[in-house]
Amino acid sequence: MTQLIDLSQEIFQGMEVYPGHQKTIIWQHASHEETAPKFEGGMSYQSNALLMCDHGPTHVDSVSHFDPDPDAPPIDKMSLDTFYGSAVGIDVSHKGVHEYISADDLIAACESAGVSVNPNDIVLIRTGTHDRHADTPAYSNQHPGLDESAANWLAEKKVKAFGVDCPTPDNPISKTYPVHMMCRRTGITHYENLTNLDKVVGKRFTFAGFPLRIRNGTGSPVRAVAILEN
Ligand SMILES: [Zn+2]
Repeated sequence: MTQLIDLSQEIFQGMEVYPGHQKTIIWQHASHEETAPKFEGGMSYQSNALLMCDHGPTHVDSVSHFDPDPDAPPIDKMSLDTFYGSAVGIDVSHKGVHEYISADDLIAACESAGVSVNPNDIVLIRTGTHDRHADTPAYSNQHPGLDESAANWLAEKKVKAFGVDCPTPDNPISKTYPVHMMCRRTGITHYENLTNLDKVVGKRFTFAGFPLRIRNGTGSPVRAVAILEN
């Protein structure tokens, strides 16, 4: 039996956004009452408009987001294969606010979850941040982050992509963002603001998190889904 687990956060006006990013604004563009006169026989429709950052909330970064090279691909030029594939979930939620997660921590997390990371895997790393701080200002910066050794470990494992349940895989107190710099160096991308990762820790599954085809997008919201076969 196939089980689908939603790993995406909700999009709504007032949602937390990464400090400095465009806030999400949603308004009704057309109502049933406004559109009814255009039709006969009772037909009408409603539609909304959205103003939001291409990095919010659950989203994937394009290479052009973290690499200033003019040849770094924007989101619409990245292969769809990047956003779909075999995945594992691991847990580092014992790490405290602003603590660093090292390569040794990731290795220990794989051992306790009973999973191994293979080349081309997508690795989802649960920090527990969204479980603890969803929809509060603490969500934006009260979380741990991977250090350089952890970033290098992911690169050495040749993962296809990785993801976290907080606004950035880097430590919010870091000024050098070694994870994003590893991504620049290797072209490996990542997902941010995932949720429900407790449901995939210790599991191997298929991950799908396709971006919208935004021309020259620096990232895109995604509907991130874990597909489990029981
Ligand atoms: Zn990022």
